[in-house]
Amino acid sequence: MPTTESELRQQLADVCRVLFRLGLVDYMGHPSARIPGTDRVLIKPRHSTRIKSQDRIAPDDMVIIDLDGKLLEGRDGPPGERFIHTCLYRARPEVQAIVHTHQHWSTIMSIGAAPIHPVIHVGSEVVEQPVPLWPHANLVTDNELGDDMARTMGSSPVGLLQGHGIVSAAATLPEAALQAIHLEQQAEANWQVLAMGHQPRIIPEEEIKQRQATGVGWEVRWAYYKEVAGIDA
Ligand SMILES: [Zn+2]
Repeated sequence: MPTTESELRQQLADVCRVLFRLGLVDYMGHPSARIPGTDRVLIKPRHSTRIKSQDRIAPDDMVIIDLDGKLLEGRDGPPGERFIHTCLYRARPEVQAIVHTHQHWSTIMSIGAAPIHPVIHVGSEVVEQPVPLWPHANLVTDNELGDDMARTMGSSPVGLLQGHGIVSAAATLPEAALQAIHLEQQAEANWQVLAMGHQPRIIPEEEIKQRQATGVGWEVRWAYYKEVAGIDA
């Protein structure tokens, strides 16, 4: 796990690239990480004519903000929706990393207010509990909206912003990214089974627990997705 700011910057750039290569982000969406032991947040810069594809954002491009969303360091500004991150970090001290995307299938399910059930074994734990739905498509551009969103999300690992996207919160950046990836896989599978005219079989809790206990850990899955994204180990 990253122990220095420069390692965290590299990991943030890796997350941007993996999510881009998987089609979960384009120029929009943003990951962030709390700099350990501080109230400072390292976050992808706001998109601009300079900051475009998330495939090509470098570690040095990342910016630092405080928990009020104020820019502390960085050539570019922070995302307008930085309050998704700052309000969740304030509400949940255990959260060290957050990913926000506009990923397609999860957003489609949010528009229909259709539940995303655990239906595929890998990643089923991400949606084991009902996924909270914040019923607004606002850009989360101030503390009032961010706090309201954080209240709706509660202690869930993932949440849906209706007609907008998703939020994933975890102890590490790779886990926050993997949760977003698995949420999207579950959402697409739910949709496809519903489109067949069938109801999906919901994986029961004991099967989710058995898979978690016997499958590989998130580090192995993250190494795979980095390889898919062309990132050297
Ligand atoms: Zn957004």
